[in-house]
Amino acid sequence: RVRTRFAPSPTGFLHIGGVRTALYAWAFARHFGGDYVLRIEDTDVERSTPEAVAAILEGLAWLGLKEDEGPFYQMQRMDRYRALIGEMLADGRAYHCYATPEELEAMREAQRARGEKPRYDGRWRPENATGRTPPAGVKPVVRFRNPDDGVVSWDDMVKGTISIGNAELDDLVIARSDGTPTYNFCVVVDDLDMGITHVIRGDDHVNNTPRQINILRALGAEPPVYGHLPMINGPDGQKLSKRHGAVSVLQYQEEGFLPDAIINYLARLGWSHGDDELFSREQLIEWFDGSHLSVSPAQLDFDKFRWVNQQYLKALPDAELAAEVGRRLQARGVPAVLGGQPVPDDRLAAMCALWKDRSPTWVVLTDWVAHFFAPPAPDAAVLAQKLTDAVRPAVAEFMAGLPAVAGDREAIGALMKTVLKNHGLKMPQLAVPLRLMVFGVEQTPSVDAMLAQLPAGEIAARVGRYVS
Ligand code: GLU
Repeated sequence: RVRTRFAPSPTGFLHIGGVRTALYAWAFARHFGGDYVLRIEDTDVERSTPEAVAAILEGLAWLGLKEDEGPFYQMQRMDRYRALIGEMLADGRAYHCYATPEELEAMREAQRARGEKPRYDGRWRPENATGRTPPAGVKPVVRFRNPDDGVVSWDDMVKGTISIGNAELDDLVIARSDGTPTYNFCVVVDDLDMGITHVIRGDDHVNNTPRQINILRALGAEPPVYGHLPMINGPDGQKLSKRHGAVSVLQYQEEGFLPDAIINYLARLGWSHGDDELFSREQLIEWFDGSHLSVSPAQLDFDKFRWVNQQYLKALPDAELAAEVGRRLQARGVPAVLGGQPVPDDRLAAMCALWKDRSPTWVVLTDWVAHFFAPPAPDAAVLAQKLTDAVRPAVAEFMAGLPAVAGDREAIGALMKTVLKNHGLKMPQLAVPLRLMVFGVEQTPSVDAMLAQLPAGEIAARVGRYVS
């Protein structure tokens, strides 16, 4: 049975890169009918916070990446790590090392001077330490006895075969002098105990893998399959920065990205299925079998991301658009109220429907719909230029006829045509000043449809500010 895991360290927020790792682990497990485990790697007590744990859990829940098991917390598994370290010490798979930091630095300095790569020289391996008494007052670390010869090699799901000679590796510290197990050790024990068959993670961990494999073998297990995903870069090809979206996934929520759209977009950052750009979670699960993972770094493309989001947004029923936009308007202090009356749900839905083709996110859709309730003041110079003496009488005639046709898009359109004909004007000559006065902007979806959303009195009040 396939078992994958996502193992975030709660030292910061859950960002796009982490979400993609979680998504791939999740989709891979789903594809094979396996389990996806969530593990919180909170052993860095200085930097881990309960707030970060909460934000990670909230982000994953919002995205619908539900774990089958967990969350497990490494801090709750300390006894297990310590017990294993004790067993390894007892039979020589690990040993105490009393070298002080100063001594180790001097060792490395000497190695560098000889043109060698700094590497622990095994000075406290039992065979090298016979007859030496541990220095008084030095609390030892525990080191794993790495094999001396041979190569560690694995067939990476993403990178193909990777081989590292054991001569390149040294005896890794698995417990600090205060007895706390180190990161690489905890990961290995957890992957083993949790029965993980496929470790899918960022390629910033690829250097840990040969060490982890050696420890795992020393624990009597065969390694799982590893897949190291290349980084996600910013739009400029550089490492993701805050400016580029290395922000919490909850910020994408705030901005109005939909979970399904995020999943869809991120799935394509490092994996492909032919030319398919838009697909459902079900399709992703059906297709995501570990093949077609990309070796080269992916690049965030916000235009594309917004485009994907827009496809999901406009596919929602108008009533759902209205519900979310209504909440967001309320939160902005621009409630969906006209003439002191809250607008009915179906009216708000019709307003959203008019703008949904132009809105990549909830924030943008809300911005547009807000023009119905609290339009910005139009640019005075532009309005003066459009509201010419030739246009003013046409506006007056239109306003005079409006009460009889208010709310009826076709009748409003017909009235406009009649007025244009009477005054020898073209559509934009009347439509643009009306848009400016009523909605504060020059461009909107078709003006008759826009005006049909508002009561005649509301339109008259707005127009009345500029023409008497
Ligand atoms: N906790 C590690 C991180 O957040 C991931 C470790 C792993 O996946 O093996 O980068």
